[in-house]
Amino acid sequence: MPKLLAIFAHPDDESFGPGGTLARYAAEGVRVHYLCATRGEAGTVDAAHLNGYRDVGELRTAELMCAARELGLAEVQFLGFRDSGMHGAAPDCLAQMPTEVVAARIAEHLMRVQPEVVITHDPFGGYGHPDHIAVHKAVLHAFSMCYGVKWRVLPNGQVLAQNAIAHAPALHFFVIPKRWMKLGVWLLRLSGQDPRRFGRNKDIDLVRIASWEIPVTARVDVRRYLRIKQRAAACHASQLPLGRQSWIARWLFRRGNGVEHFSRAYPAPSPGEALAHTLFSN
Ligand SMILES: [Zn+2]
Repeated sequence: MPKLLAIFAHPDDESFGPGGTLARYAAEGVRVHYLCATRGEAGTVDAAHLNGYRDVGELRTAELMCAARELGLAEVQFLGFRDSGMHGAAPDCLAQMPTEVVAARIAEHLMRVQPEVVITHDPFGGYGHPDHIAVHKAVLHAFSMCYGVKWRVLPNGQVLAQNAIAHAPALHFFVIPKRWMKLGVWLLRLSGQDPRRFGRNKDIDLVRIASWEIPVTARVDVRRYLRIKQRAAACHASQLPLGRQSWIARWLFRRGNGVEHFSRAYPAPSPGEALAHTLFSN
């Protein structure tokens, strides 16, 4: 049975990110594992959502287990690091951990699961969250520890493997194509909103994020799995980012939801390589 290991920072990164892809592979008989670095303790939660839970971490763990059932994940494991929040200041939070420490924990799971495909955050941490960047760096380091993969970082932020190792899994970053985001920035401005102060906590700078672009190497069609993805996202009720947003924000996030995009770092894409429609090579 083929195995896919998704490694992200928080409970909800799986459903608000490549949830359609995870659901699709689970439905197609792939064992889909989720390795979550934190329990999302730093997330902002309305008091009403905490009803019955001791703390935010416990609530968000329950939300993730709900999403995992919807997506059909085979397993959820936690690395047990502390959520850094957008500013990453707490002394013992994930963003402050040495990369080698986080990588060693990830390496244990790579060795245990032996996946054919690994998915993680892109070099920009999606929208720049310090925990996403920390997980991205730790996954690269874990690939070097486990398989001897050497990395090269291009000026645009693209990460490419410099060598090929027979038994290493493919490594894909989940990416958001910036074309629609640029249009969204334009629409937000047109409607008098500030695209540099976006999101639930007004700490997301869409102008800056739209400038972070690396090549897409795979587009996965998830149209048949959108309902499942929506149900999984709804499990993360305490984190739903769109409830009070404008129709532009909702449109921006729904646009292109039928396809999820990935940029492959290992093996490095060859020049002129055709766009793939799967994360598995065969
Ligand atoms: Zn996250």
